Amino acid sequence: MRIGFIGLGNMGRPMARNLISAGHVLTVHDVHEAAAAEHVALGARWAASAAECASEVDVLITMLPNPRIVEDVLVREGAARALPPGALWIDMSTSTPAAAERVAEVFDIRRLDAPVSGMAKGAETGTLQIFVGGHPADFGQALPLLMAMGEADKILHVGAHGSGYTVKLMINLLWFCHLVATSEVLAVGVKAGVDLGVLRAALLTSPAASNFLENDMMSVLASGDYDDSFAMALACKDLGLAVDLGRDVGVSTELSAMVEQIYRRAKAQYGDHAGEMTPVRLYESLAGKQFRLPEPTLEVA
Ligand code: NAD
Repeated sequence: MRIGFIGLGNMGRPMARNLISAGHVLTVHDVHEAAAAEHVALGARWAASAAECASEVDVLITMLPNPRIVEDVLVREGAARALPPGALWIDMSTSTPAAAERVAEVFDIRRLDAPVSGMAKGAETGTLQIFVGGHPADFGQALPLLMAMGEADKILHVGAHGSGYTVKLMINLLWFCHLVATSEVLAVGVKAGVDLGVLRAALLTSPAASNFLENDMMSVLASGDYDDSFAMALACKDLGLAVDLGRDVGVSTELSAMVEQIYRRAKAQYGDHAGEMTPVRLYESLAGKQFRLPEPTLEVA
C-alpha cells in the first residue's frame, strides 16, 4: 500500500517512522523539510508540496495542528484534488467534524477521522489510542496502518464521520477540567496548611480520587515536568474547539468555557510553547509554593 503522510511534528514524526518500520512505503511532506530527514534516511520519498504527497497514493494521512490547516492542506494546497480516485484520506489531527465536512462538500473522497490520545510517548512507542469515525469498510482497510501506530485493543471504531473528532475533543476537555480542578484543590489545601503529600494521599483514598491525581499529575509532583511535548497553543486550540462544539450542538458549557479562559491566561503568561500542564503553575503561585513531593513521599505513593 502506498501511503502519503503530511505533518511531521511531535506526533507525526514518530507515527510516520513506525509506519516505515512496519514495512509500508511512504511519501512524506511538512512545511519544514528538515522534519523529514529521518524518514528519508529510512527510505521514504520527500514531496515538496501537499499535492505532490497526495498524488499516487492509496492512503493519505494528515497529522496537522488545527482544523484551519487541515482545510488549507486538503483544499487550498490541493491535496484532495491530487488524490487518485478511490484513495482514502485519514485525518489523525485533533480537528472538528465541521472542517472535514467542508472538505467533503468540495471533494467526494473516502475519508476517516482518526485522532489519537497517548501523547508523544505513545506515538514513539506505537501504543496510541485511536478513535475512528467513518464507514466500517474504510476502517477495515485502515486497520493494518493504524495497528502500526496504535495498540490493537485501543483502536476503536466510534461511529460515523466526525465521531472520532468528537470523542477525542471530549477526552481532552475532561482531562483539562481535571487539571484545573485538581490544581485548585491542592492550592487551597496547601495554603490552608496541609502537607501536599498528606493531602494527595487522603484524596487518593477518598471518593474524590482520580487517575489524573494518581498518575498524570506525577510528572509535576515528582520532577516539575509540565509536559512540553504537548504545547499550550495546542491545548488552548482543543479547548476552543470543544467549547465551539458544545455551542454547535446547543449544549451550554459554562465549566469548559471557564477552564478554557484559565488555560488562555496560562498561555499568555508562560507562552505558546509551554507544556500542557502549565496552568498548574498559576495555582502554585496562589499557594505560594511549587507542588513537589519529597523523595520518601514518592516511594510511599
Ligand atoms: P506539532 O506542531 O508538533 O506538528 C505539526 C506539524 O505540522 C509540524 O511539523 C508543522 O511544520 C506541520 N505543518 C503545519 N502546517 C503545515 C502545512 N500547511 N503543510 C504541511 N505541514 C504543516 O503538533 P503535534 O504535537 O505533532 O500535534 C499534531 C496534532 O495531533 C494536533 O492536532 C494535536 O492537537 C494532536 N495531538 C497532539 C498530541 C501531543 O501530545 N503532542 C497528542 C494527541 C494529539
